[in-house]
Amino acid sequence: MARALSYPVKIYEFDGTPVYLTLKNVKRINYTFKPDRINVSAKPGTELSIIINFIEENRERFQEKLEKIKNRDQQIKALENQNITSFSKLLLFGKEYNIVYRSDINSIKLASKNVYIPEGYKELNLEFYKTYIDEFIQTELEKYIQNRLKYWYHKTGLKCKKFTIRKMKTLWGSCSVNKATIRFNFYLAMVPKKAIDYVIIHELCHLKEANHQAGFYNLLSKYFPSYKFEQKILKQKVLPCQYLF
Ligand SMILES: [Zn+2]
Repeated sequence: MARALSYPVKIYEFDGTPVYLTLKNVKRINYTFKPDRINVSAKPGTELSIIINFIEENRERFQEKLEKIKNRDQQIKALENQNITSFSKLLLFGKEYNIVYRSDINSIKLASKNVYIPEGYKELNLEFYKTYIDEFIQTELEKYIQNRLKYWYHKTGLKCKKFTIRKMKTLWGSCSVNKATIRFNFYLAMVPKKAIDYVIIHELCHLKEANHQAGFYNLLSKYFPSYKFEQKILKQKVLPCQYLF
């Protein structure tokens, strides 16, 4: 991990969005986007003009990313102001299910096109409602990951001791090589199963090849030749994903 050498300092305005620079021991200029700011990091001693040129040379990419993250932020804010009865769809494994309320059930059930939700949930406040939905989603994701870990273990011999699921803002998954544990992002439940599978095998490969070097990609493409396609699918999503509409 790179050690931070300075606090973020505002260095530039990009179309009205402030750009903050942090100096740290990084190989090249890195950048991340937030709805209200762009964070850039560069190694100590890098001239400001080089960083600003870099931003302007990548203007289109910066605009595109910024717009995407601002849109998502607006969607999320709009969602926070919604009420339960306005939700008509749930996104799960890349597929939209129609929300149907039923009085004859007391837990959430998935059918081919619908997700059945107990009628009583409509009376909950939004926070509790979401908690129940999240629990359901997490269980579905857990089941899927569990199955696929078994599959990949038989196929590759790669095995993690434990996995956890957390809501994360930047990573789809991460692997602690020493502990042989994997952490998966809750929002994986919103992408197609094949893309989840890619993240599973990606993290499993790290048990053998810790870094993203040639050895890692050789291993990955051996087990999952179409990984570039799934990477693209995952790149299209901005975290956290919205799943109630
Ligand atoms: Zn990785």
